[in-house]
Amino acid sequence: MGNERAGASPSEAASATVAALLRASALPALEARILLAHLLGWRRTELITRADEPLAAAKVALWHQLEARRLAGEPIAQLVGAREFYGLEFEVTPHVLIPRPETELLVETTLDAIAGRARPRVLDLGTGTGAIVVAIASARPDAQVWAVDRSAEALQVAARNAARLLDAQRPGGPLTLLQGDWYAPLDATSDLRFDAIVSNPPYIASDDPHLAQGDLRFEPRGALTDEADGLSAIRSIVANAPAWLAAHGMLWIEHGYDQAVAVRALLAERGFDGVRSVCDLAGIERISGGELPPSAPSARTGEIRYHL
Ligand code: GLN
Repeated sequence: MGNERAGASPSEAASATVAALLRASALPALEARILLAHLLGWRRTELITRADEPLAAAKVALWHQLEARRLAGEPIAQLVGAREFYGLEFEVTPHVLIPRPETELLVETTLDAIAGRARPRVLDLGTGTGAIVVAIASARPDAQVWAVDRSAEALQVAARNAARLLDAQRPGGPLTLLQGDWYAPLDATSDLRFDAIVSNPPYIASDDPHLAQGDLRFEPRGALTDEADGLSAIRSIVANAPAWLAAHGMLWIEHGYDQAVAVRALLAERGFDGVRSVCDLAGIERISGGELPPSAPSARTGEIRYHL
């Protein structure tokens, strides 16, 4: 009793409150609230209603560790282990790209592309968290869904997200996960053909300074850059798509803010019809795609590989 007004003292940490920690934090207020709510397991509203409740010293010590990691640049999504995408909460680890809001455009556009098709088959190349294909599968329970990634760690994250977010009884069945480069792990002797192929591939050029900034410093480099001009993964995906698409099947790819013209040219050269790009909310041409005409070349005569 009696010494609540004392300055710094060992008892101060023990009597710290959310209000005091938020006041003292060097983090932007919104970030501090997200991290504190995560650490305490509280709802964001509880940070207000319970702002003056004394916190355990162990929690306060953990807070200071978490705050220091964020101040050193670690992404919020990695610190809380999750990010919302298309209204679903995806597990995120340092082994996967953090889902971005602009990638929801790829989901919406693909859902439009398969709107008139029953039990459509959808393939996601370089799935990472699985956000794209799981969001599509969640909106279209009848869709049959495949996901490929080169990273075993990423596939484990995608598998957990699919298991948690998709109904085990969905008519399209479970997500099929395959490890390898682009189309390589698919069975070339099968008669499998997709109604839609989607991808958010690594499209940042290896010398782009953004790789050394912000969240990107902490994300897997292989999910961000092709270690070349930024278009080599897209070249491989476009070149081999006709061998895996059904007649009228659609390919949609996310790309960088300045790559739309080049990606449309690759699609047109490969024989795609109706090639177009769609702008994200910032007005940037963010995804490009097209439809495979029924007459397009489609034999599986070995995969065409570009650098990567
Ligand atoms: N959209 C990401 C970024 O620029 C890059 C993702 C990617 O390379 N596929 O931050």
